Amino acid sequence: MNRNHDRLHRDEQDLRSVGMTELQTIYSDMGLTSDELDLLSVPRHSFTVSFPVKMTTGRTQIFTGFRVQYNDARGPAKGGIRFHPEMSAEHASELALLMALKCAVVNIPFGGAKGGVVVNPMDISRRDLELVTRGYIRAIADYIGPFKDIPAPDVYTDEQIMAWILDEYERIRREHVPAVVTGKPPELGGVLVRRYSTALGGVHVLEQALRERNMDFGGLRVAIQGFGNVGENAARILHERGCLVIALSDVNGGILDPKGLDIPAVMEHQKSTGSVVKFPGARELSNAELLMTDCDVLVPAALSNQLDANNARAVKAQFILELANAPTTAAADEILFERDVLLIPDILANAGGVVASYFEWSQNLSNDRWSEEKTLSRLQEIMISAYNDVGGRCRETRCRMRKAAYELALKRILHAEKLRGNL
Ligand code: GLU
Repeated sequence: MNRNHDRLHRDEQDLRSVGMTELQTIYSDMGLTSDELDLLSVPRHSFTVSFPVKMTTGRTQIFTGFRVQYNDARGPAKGGIRFHPEMSAEHASELALLMALKCAVVNIPFGGAKGGVVVNPMDISRRDLELVTRGYIRAIADYIGPFKDIPAPDVYTDEQIMAWILDEYERIRREHVPAVVTGKPPELGGVLVRRYSTALGGVHVLEQALRERNMDFGGLRVAIQGFGNVGENAARILHERGCLVIALSDVNGGILDPKGLDIPAVMEHQKSTGSVVKFPGARELSNAELLMTDCDVLVPAALSNQLDANNARAVKAQFILELANAPTTAAADEILFERDVLLIPDILANAGGVVASYFEWSQNLSNDRWSEEKTLSRLQEIMISAYNDVGGRCRETRCRMRKAAYELALKRILHAEKLRGNL
């Protein structure tokens, strides 16, 4: 197994413990009734499927896939499909609950789902990947649909895989159903903004946090850990808005220039060499050092569990924008709160992706095409209002922003359950 895969596996194990620890604490702090706890403790539907795929080698292989719809009180279940060798029903269930919270915190009319197939896409050919995708969709076709459960990309799945999902589902239904999946290529009803909406959504909430403190992006020193789709777009957008992106890193290491890196040039360098390291004129630094860089804003956009009880006291940033999933442990969260560092938590900070999915779904349902201007302004509106909702709750209860975000999301889900007569 390759190195990226090992890292990814560790990442997921961490996510599992962090998200769930946080929830257990919040459940007890919120003083939920036992009925509410019972209702939240099990997913509504959890499907495990086995399906044969006649591979291009001529051999038949049996694959296992999952789809979990954790909660759909607020709307159809929504969430990505992950192709990963360590995928399990239990893990899909935990990630599906986090999706329900994410959709509730930004107040879009979706519940939460997650699914996946036990497969390492790096081990099989592109053609076999298509066969596996189609086999999986044939196996779960009865459980998904535009008003039931809408898949999207997640770890190791991309626009092309969404296109195969669409095609297979439409073959089965014998009609066009573009709203059954989001994250599609723009030619098949996807929205272009979806490609960078996670980073842009994060930039909007950060801007709002700055505005509250009478600050703006001009000259703000930013350090970003991770230069994948999210990290790279965050660097590009923040650079365009006038920030000094002083430190960046990827899996090979990091670069630092206290005067600010030339981001378009770093992007070029990364494209030609495959990494940000050895960028001419920049100092080298490790991923661990990047977290402690002297900067104003720290953006973890890579792995989970990067900020823990051992390094949280050494963080110099005043703001942390969590574009990665669960980059901060519960203990570090407490330390950063005591030190007055404003941490904008993952389910709020990285929700821009699913918000753009919501736009894609709405346009597909109404056969409409929004202008880029409308898409961008609605994304901003939703992200800012979610930030204000969470911020307001923080001020009222003087608590950590993560806690406020989780509580707000849970309250909204439970309220919908009450209105439906389930509580
Ligand atoms: N997989 C993404 C997430 O975890 C997006 C899900 C979606 O767009 O439905 O937020």
